[in-house]
Amino acid sequence: MVYYLETKEPLKVSSVNYITLHPAIHRFFWHTLVGLLAASLLLLLADRARGQGQSVLFTNARLILGDGNVIERGSMYIEGASIVAIGESDALAATAGTITVDLLGKTVIPALIDGHAHLGYQGRTSWGAENYSQENLIDNLEQYAYYGFGAVFSAGSDAPGLAKTVQTRLAARELNAARMLIAAGMAPPGQGPNDQFLTHALAVEQATRTRILWGLESPEQARAAVREIQAQGTQFIKLWVDDRGGSQQKLPAALYRAVAEEANALGLRVFVHQQFAEDMPDLIAAGAHGFLHGRLGRTLGEAIATQLSEANVFVVPNLGLGELRREAIGEDPFLGQILSSNLLSGLLPGAGQRTLQPTRDAALEVEQQDSFKALIDAGVDVVLGTDAGAVPDHPFGYTGHRELEIFVRLGMSPLQAITAATHNAARHLQLDDMGLLQPGYSADFVILDENPLQDIRNTRRISAVYLKGTPIDRAALQRKWVSR
Ligand SMILES: [Zn+2]
Repeated sequence: MVYYLETKEPLKVSSVNYITLHPAIHRFFWHTLVGLLAASLLLLLADRARGQGQSVLFTNARLILGDGNVIERGSMYIEGASIVAIGESDALAATAGTITVDLLGKTVIPALIDGHAHLGYQGRTSWGAENYSQENLIDNLEQYAYYGFGAVFSAGSDAPGLAKTVQTRLAARELNAARMLIAAGMAPPGQGPNDQFLTHALAVEQATRTRILWGLESPEQARAAVREIQAQGTQFIKLWVDDRGGSQQKLPAALYRAVAEEANALGLRVFVHQQFAEDMPDLIAAGAHGFLHGRLGRTLGEAIATQLSEANVFVVPNLGLGELRREAIGEDPFLGQILSSNLLSGLLPGAGQRTLQPTRDAALEVEQQDSFKALIDAGVDVVLGTDAGAVPDHPFGYTGHRELEIFVRLGMSPLQAITAATHNAARHLQLDDMGLLQPGYSADFVILDENPLQDIRNTRRISAVYLKGTPIDRAALQRKWVSR
């Protein structure tokens, strides 16, 4: 039963009924019948494992619960799409009809969440508006699932109609992939994402005849836009505040204050793109709920950290975006396993500015460590986010694992890094049934071959990914992608 789990130990199915047949049955017929029965038994089991009510008890695993707690030898009992019980392995026993999966030596973590990405534009062979389609959104979400992610927040660059179709299909379990959250984008008229991205976002607006970016002109008009967004059923707003290094106009404070106030009154959440830490105090005071680019450095110290913590505002440091685009990530087998040789060639040493070990500015590194420490010491919720998809070749899912490595390099414990990518992300994105291994939560989890608490890079040692209690067929996804 390797189907359920990419593990060396086969699943033990306890109750197989033996079939007796009349001896007169022809040998040929006998073989055919046995073949058919075996095939239907397999289908039945596969169907049950897809979350049609079958109970599975995972035993003897290290369970990292997502909130900082760990059960060293625990069991998790799932029924259909939900986690039903969690406990020490001694305390949970299988009942009749339960499939038991022994995970001795393995670790289970909640499915990861990317709190900042841009879905739809990165295709298998190119980046741009031409890729934005239902099919490509699903492909991107499957890539997230492959890498152990259960949800992704796409930050203000999506056509709401297409996104909603995908969300509906996911909710109906027609598809098994990471969940997709979207935001309405807000900025001065005709602005928003970086200049390259802006052209493509506007092209998708035109092609889909929907609004992605809302231009803000006056406080009254900004409030009306927030009300319209709420009426459409979108729960998040992405606000571009900075001037993108002088290439765009900065959003006036009166406008972001109006947006934040109206959004808070209606229960919408406002996440901000800001260039500098100096912009953060007034945005926090205005009622913003999170920052999608941490801008760690000298200017983000104790004072802002305390303000963030007291206001329960999260920060996505988003550090890999700068680093990984200079690295020859095509040499990394963890990425190589899903890319065709053609795609890989653009990510090898010598392609663009890529080198195997890009040099880092030592002084900047110390400054970032201090700033990161200030956030952690003040108890600010750091949330994992990558900005994957905002630029070409910043791959979905893969970059999340690399970001976790950066978090630990800058001073987080591996356990804190995993919390940033699970419980912290789920709370701030209002994913109320995700981010924890806890009864009542969705059975979204990753089984790892090695312990990530010893080395955070072990989040890449993925044995299996389950979303809503159903295993992701990672081998099939790999075949689909590598053959392209
Ligand atoms: Zn972004």
